[in-house]
Amino acid sequence: MEMSSKLLERAVAEISQLPGIGKRTALRLALHLLKQPAEQTQLLTSALQKMRDEIQFCRQCHNISDVEVCEICANTSRDRSVICVVEDIRDVMAIENTNLFKGIYHVLGGKISPIDGIGPSQLNIVTLVEKVKTGNVKELIFALSSTMEGDTTNFYIYKQIKEYGIVTSAIARGIAVGDELEFADEVTLGRSILHRVPFENSLKSS
Ligand SMILES: [Zn+2]
Repeated sequence: MEMSSKLLERAVAEISQLPGIGKRTALRLALHLLKQPAEQTQLLTSALQKMRDEIQFCRQCHNISDVEVCEICANTSRDRSVICVVEDIRDVMAIENTNLFKGIYHVLGGKISPIDGIGPSQLNIVTLVEKVKTGNVKELIFALSSTMEGDTTNFYIYKQIKEYGIVTSAIARGIAVGDELEFADEVTLGRSILHRVPFENSLKSS
């Protein structure tokens, strides 16, 4: 795309690095900002910069947080003996939106995927096993997407914690195979948590 301004060209090139944003959309966004008062761009860039510089990951559950321990982990009315294991932060948001889960979370940061070069050591699995070892955990709920990678990850964790004899369950498969959690509607997702099944059963049915 030939542009009369190198400055515009550079801004468009940067914006179009974002997922789902092509060059055309990037140009539209850049031109939109140029039409707005300069303060608008200032607000946008400083919000992004501040987020990037200051955001933290909860040291207990690895959820995104503004402080060392996230709001969910810090909430004393949540049941710490029930841990919902999810792939990423978006899953925490989706489940929180159902308002049906009162336990705490553990964010793995992805799932085991040899094709993408992601092994167990790149995920937050050790800290999860450590939590189980403390003896304060009664149940782990696997809420990963029902893909092959999700199943592999569940099973890997299951093997690690099996000896501690806690209850392990998997969310009910009302969610179609391969669907990502964040796209499930709240009612379905809420139900699938309430109607969770023993993990061993989920192994037989899949
Ligand atoms: Zn937390």
